Amino acid sequence: MKLHEYQARDLLARYGVPMTGGGVASTQTEVYRIAKEINGPVVVKAQVFVGGRGKAGGVKLAKTPEEAELVGGQILGMNLKGLTVEKVLVAEAITYQKEIYISAVMDRATKRVVMIASAEGGVEIEEVARTKPEAIIKMPAHPHLGLLEYQAREIAFAIGLTDSKQARQFAQIALAVYRAFKECDASLVEINPLVIRDDGSLQALDSKILLDDSALFRHPDLAAIRDTSDEPEEEQRARAADITFIKLDGDIGCMVNGAGLAMATMDVVKLYGGEPANFLDIGGGADKDKVKTALEIILSDPNVKAILVNIFGGITRVDEVARGIIAALEEVHTDVPMIARLVGTNEEEGRKLLADSALIPAATLADGAQKAVEAARARASA
Ligand code: GDP
Ligand code: MN
Repeated sequence: MKLHEYQARDLLARYGVPMTGGGVASTQTEVYRIAKEINGPVVVKAQVFVGGRGKAGGVKLAKTPEEAELVGGQILGMNLKGLTVEKVLVAEAITYQKEIYISAVMDRATKRVVMIASAEGGVEIEEVARTKPEAIIKMPAHPHLGLLEYQAREIAFAIGLTDSKQARQFAQIALAVYRAFKECDASLVEINPLVIRDDGSLQALDSKILLDDSALFRHPDLAAIRDTSDEPEEEQRARAADITFIKLDGDIGCMVNGAGLAMATMDVVKLYGGEPANFLDIGGGADKDKVKTALEIILSDPNVKAILVNIFGGITRVDEVARGIIAALEEVHTDVPMIARLVGTNEEEGRKLLADSALIPAATLADGAQKAVEAARARASA
C-alpha cells in the first residue's frame, strides 16, 4: 500500500521528523486558506502516486496566498503522468543550502532492514545509483537490536555531515525513519529531499512510504486511509473478495489455491511455452461466490485464451471447489476453454461432479499446463 505525501508526512511527524507546516486541499479556495494561515511563501504539491513531480510541473512555489491560489488552480485537475491531480499539499516553503537523501528499505539479499543515505539528494536515488554509485551509503540494521545510534551517526559522517550538532540531528532523523519503518511494517520509508537550512538545521521536504500489504491487518488505522484510485479495477475487486490477484501480460488465466502453488503453476505454464495472464490465489474456502468473482476477474482480461484451474484440496475439499466452479459457471458464461487439475481430499467426488461440465480434466499439473498451452494456441490461431 502506498501512502500519499501528505499522509506520510503526518506519520513521520509523529516519529519526530521535522516536517514543514501546512495542509491538504482539493479546491483553490482551500489552497488560499491554508496559504493565508501559513502567512509566508508556500509550495503547492500534487498528491498523486508518481515520482519526479517537481520536473513534471506538479510542484510549484508561491510567494503570496493569491499566487498560491493561482498555481493551485493550475495543479489541481492536471494530468501528471497519466493520473489526475485531485489533492494538493500546501506547505510552508523553505530556503535551503543542500539536499540529502535518507531511506529505510528491506534488503532481501541480507534479509535486513538497510538504511540508505546520500549527499546527492533531490534527484531519484535510482538516478544516483546509475550515475554516481559511490555517493550512496548503505548501513544494515541489526536484526534484533535494530539501528544503533552509533550507526546512525556513522551514516551522517559518511555523507559529510561532520558538524557534531548536525550529525546528531541527522542521527535522530535516521533513527525515527527506522522506527517508523519497523513499527508500521513498511517496505520503504524515504525522505527526499532532507534539506540543510540556512541556519544549518535539517528539515524534511518530501517523504514517501510504502506499507507491506501482508501486515496491514495489524494497522487498521493505516489500512483505513488507503487510496486505491490508481490501482487497476480488477485488483481492487480481488482485494475486496479476499483474493490475491496480480495481472500479467500473457494469455493463460490461472486460478489456484495457495500462493506457493500459484507460483509453481505459473512456472510450469512457462515451462511448456505458455505465458500466464495473471497470478491468482483464491485462498482457502473456495465457495461459489469466490470462484465466480475469480472467474469474472480472469475473464475481464481480453487477452485470456485459456484458463488453468489448479486446486489442491487440503482443508478446502475438492468436491466443494468443484461445486463452486459448477455454480459459478451457471452465472458466468464463457467459451474460453478451462482445464482443471483437482487433487487432494475428496478428489474422486470432485472429478465426478465436473465430468458433465465443460471443464477439460487434467491428471497432473504438467498435463494441465500442456493442455492449457495447446488450448490457448488453438484459440489464438482460430
Ligand atoms: P518529487 O519531485 O515528486 O520528488 O517532489 P519533491 O517534493 O521532492 O519536490 C521536488 C523539488 O521541489 C525538490 O527537490 C525541491 O527542489 C523543490 N521543493 C520542494 N519543496 C520545496 C520548498 O519548500 N522550498 C524550495 N525552495 N524548494 C522546494
Ligand atoms: Mn522528492
